[in-house]
Amino acid sequence: MDKNFQEEELTQIIKFTPPLHKQRHQFVKDLVEKFKPKKVADLGCADCSLLRMLKFCSYIEVLAGLDICASVMKEKMHTLSPLPVDYLQPSERTLTITLHHGSVAHKDPCMLGFDLVTCIELIEHLEESELKKFPEVVFGFMAPKIVVISTPNSDFNPLLPGVMLYRHPDHKFEWNQAQFQSWALETARCYDYSVEFTGVGYPPTGMEKVGFCTQIGVFVRKYPQTDESVQPEKPNEAVYKTVFKIVYPSLKDEKYLQNAVISEVIFTAQIIKHRFMSKQEEHGDDPERKFKFQPSTDCFSDYLGKLVVDKNMEPFVRGNEVYIPLATIFSFPKVSRLCGTFEKLCKLIAGKVTLSSDGSAVMFNIEHENEEN
Ligand code: SAH
Repeated sequence: MDKNFQEEELTQIIKFTPPLHKQRHQFVKDLVEKFKPKKVADLGCADCSLLRMLKFCSYIEVLAGLDICASVMKEKMHTLSPLPVDYLQPSERTLTITLHHGSVAHKDPCMLGFDLVTCIELIEHLEESELKKFPEVVFGFMAPKIVVISTPNSDFNPLLPGVMLYRHPDHKFEWNQAQFQSWALETARCYDYSVEFTGVGYPPTGMEKVGFCTQIGVFVRKYPQTDESVQPEKPNEAVYKTVFKIVYPSLKDEKYLQNAVISEVIFTAQIIKHRFMSKQEEHGDDPERKFKFQPSTDCFSDYLGKLVVDKNMEPFVRGNEVYIPLATIFSFPKVSRLCGTFEKLCKLIAGKVTLSSDGSAVMFNIEHENEEN
């Protein structure tokens, strides 16, 4: 957004590589890699660029954004939607992304239960009355395990050409390191959090005292979250308006799992059949070996060879039909990982894949194939 643009303009003499806004988001991403939160809320999410980055973090199952400006969120919210590949190859994890229109000065139950809450370059946009309510909303009410707050460090401002008062016209204040740290320590003390200070955007050599261009506080809750600490006195009244909600396709959803299993079963069965038929042709004149599955020297066939030591797992031919036992197909790691149990495999493909009359093998009719050959 224009805020970032303005900051990059100002910092063109002291050049940050990568740009500062990217470094801030990378900082959050690194934190996510470290703590592996499942539920993350970004307060003051603006154009959703941080959410867009975080949706690729595989641990995250719930992502929420909140901003007081609905139009800035709506501008690019479609970029949070699933891509065609997400439908073609649904992920094993679930992912729900929701955007809310509202203020961090108000409590809404949709913000409960998060593991990580990020407030990147937000607090300096808050009016005095909002800033007063902010700690109670975020640390008292939402009470996530971790809170990250970043804000401009005004000690750095003299190094930024063109900054008269604040870095952006919408900033209501900019704190120096002592001011931010004193506010953060007091907030942490009040709500039983610990806080550590860091930042992004190194000062030039010899000027280390001014600190990072963006100062960051990472707050970690000291007490464990219990059901009692979430309930019962937390209010239930919803004050935010949901402007966007998307549930990503996931293999946890039976309909996507079924599609994936059917595709994988047919794919695996076809490969087994192909190997089997090739071997049939090679040993076609040897009656002893005629219908016996003989692995070749490649890895896949080696694997098959090990599997079919059990007679019941061997592919077999009857008339114009080739049968690939489901037990053999289930032995393939990808199939068994998808289904979990053999019973589940049978249930998911029932009526969707052509099987032998006793339901124990996938059946292929090779009449047509033989004619072609
Ligand atoms: N977090 C974004 C940029 C933040 S700019 C990033 O990392 O790039 C600050 C954002 O906070 C703006 O989008 C502004 O609309 C929003 N904001 C300001 N006051 C707010 C409030 N009281 N509650 C929620 N969002 C607010």
